[in-house]
Amino acid sequence: MRSVFPWTLLAAVVCSWTMAQEPVPERPRRIYLDEFRPTPVLKTDEHILTRAKFPCVNVHTHPGRLNPEELDEMVQVMDEANIAVSVSLDGRAGPEFADHYKLLTGRHPGRFAIFVRMDYIGDGDPEDPATWDVHRPGFGLRMADRLTEAVRQGAVGLKLLKDLGLYLKDENGKLLKPDDPRFDPVWARAGELKVPVIWHCGDPISFFRPTDEYNERWEELYRHPEWSFYGEEFPSHQELIDARNRVIARHPETTFICAHMADVPEDLAKLGTYLDEYPNMNVEIAARVAELGRQPYTARKFFLKYPDRILFGTDGIPPMTELIPHFRFLETFDENFPYEDNPFPPQGLWNIFGIGLPDDVLRQVYHKNAERLIPGVKEMIAKYDAREKTERSP
Ligand SMILES: [Zn+2]
Repeated sequence: MRSVFPWTLLAAVVCSWTMAQEPVPERPRRIYLDEFRPTPVLKTDEHILTRAKFPCVNVHTHPGRLNPEELDEMVQVMDEANIAVSVSLDGRAGPEFADHYKLLTGRHPGRFAIFVRMDYIGDGDPEDPATWDVHRPGFGLRMADRLTEAVRQGAVGLKLLKDLGLYLKDENGKLLKPDDPRFDPVWARAGELKVPVIWHCGDPISFFRPTDEYNERWEELYRHPEWSFYGEEFPSHQELIDARNRVIARHPETTFICAHMADVPEDLAKLGTYLDEYPNMNVEIAARVAELGRQPYTARKFFLKYPDRILFGTDGIPPMTELIPHFRFLETFDENFPYEDNPFPPQGLWNIFGIGLPDDVLRQVYHKNAERLIPGVKEMIAKYDAREKTERSP
């Protein structure tokens, strides 16, 4: 009988003896999430675009607090980036409107379109919500008249912040719903005046979920706990979206531009069903490139399916460093690049991918849709084009 030598056992013994001789490497220090700065070593094509391929309308900016010099700097960036027109969403109803209008259009004629904000306060005391006009009977008609007056002064649209649905309370201390009938005269008047309503309703879905270890925007909510709308005192994300959609359905003659991809960029299939259902609904991409750019296949299909319903926007007063990722996202197939010039991605810990849109779609998103939906923009683009041609011809 052959004897069987336990070779494997011997190998194991020798191995563990050798390992025992090697010093055990020290484990690196445990780091916190906000210290983690993974730097991709990936090498792929890069296109650092500082200029939109076609004249561009930025439908979502906030130059409201700029002094004249800062405004000039903003326009300088617009010139470099081929942004023909910026839409200011900071017009205030009443006498303040004229000042804002004069500053923007006096210094830079043809470069700004100005929307007026919904004014809940009227002649009430800003510090005392009980005195606000929105609580008095007939608010809708009075606000509609304020809109008419602003349009007479040069406004070309109405802007709504997310406060309707998330902050603004009724006379009994309950949050007003976005589809509260008291606002119907305002929506109707916007339709009669043929000016669009740009509406930020809701916020990212993650902000309506618990700020716990499963929340993919935990880091952001940890820095900004005030951005969380989780809890019984708030409506759900879907309730807000549904209420807004009921308004859009009730007012088919009014054009709505739903800011931030209608606050459902996390589910473009669902957003598509809304666009199919409401022909008067449009969307703009401000502050949602992070969301769109992490789903490049789905986002590209969406843009190709709805090229006449999507507008360009950024939010804020975008410096060049913020515009570059927007242009890269829309125009290139660049891969795995940061969506913001910030060592720590502020809207989710991920990078984005470009969707390389064809020229005809880019033209629609950059300026044609805005020309169609916002009064006066077409003429501004024509003038900008003419100026560009003379300045750029030898
Ligand atoms: Zn905004």
